[in-house]
Amino acid sequence: MSNALPETWSARCRCGAFTARMSSPPVLQLVCHCTDCRAVAGTPFSNFAFFRARDAETSGATTKREFVADSGHATVRECCAQCGDMLIDRTAGFPKVIGVLAERIDGPFTFTPQHHVWADSKLPAVEIPPGVTAYPRGAAA
Ligand SMILES: [Zn+2]
Ligand SMILES: [Zn+2]
Repeated sequence: MSNALPETWSARCRCGAFTARMSSPPVLQLVCHCTDCRAVAGTPFSNFAFFRARDAETSGATTKREFVADSGHATVRECCAQCGDMLIDRTAGFPKVIGVLAERIDGPFTFTPQHHVWADSKLPAVEIPPGVTAYPRGAAA
């Protein structure tokens, strides 16, 4: 038993209309090099912190971009309907977690990725730092 106060995290898109609030710490942080994230976010790779879905809630109007993951499961990127910022990653194969774009998490939060995933799809100019686990495709389910 711990008497520590519950910690909460929040994230928001650039314009602030789409927000997420998480009441437990991230369970996994990773850098995703997949083409789906790249197509939606427009950045070479995406930094995600994954939180327990049951401890996370989002609010605001979104546009959803749906893809089929390598596993055959649907994978969705949720973007703000107003500014278009990608904020959330939900994948049917990992229903217990949601990914939140790390740069959009309000401080103090330091992104510390344990893995890089979809390294096979990464842009040639992007270097994966030594000492970090890189999976050629998605992380093992
Ligand atoms: Zn927005
Ligand atoms: Zn991705």
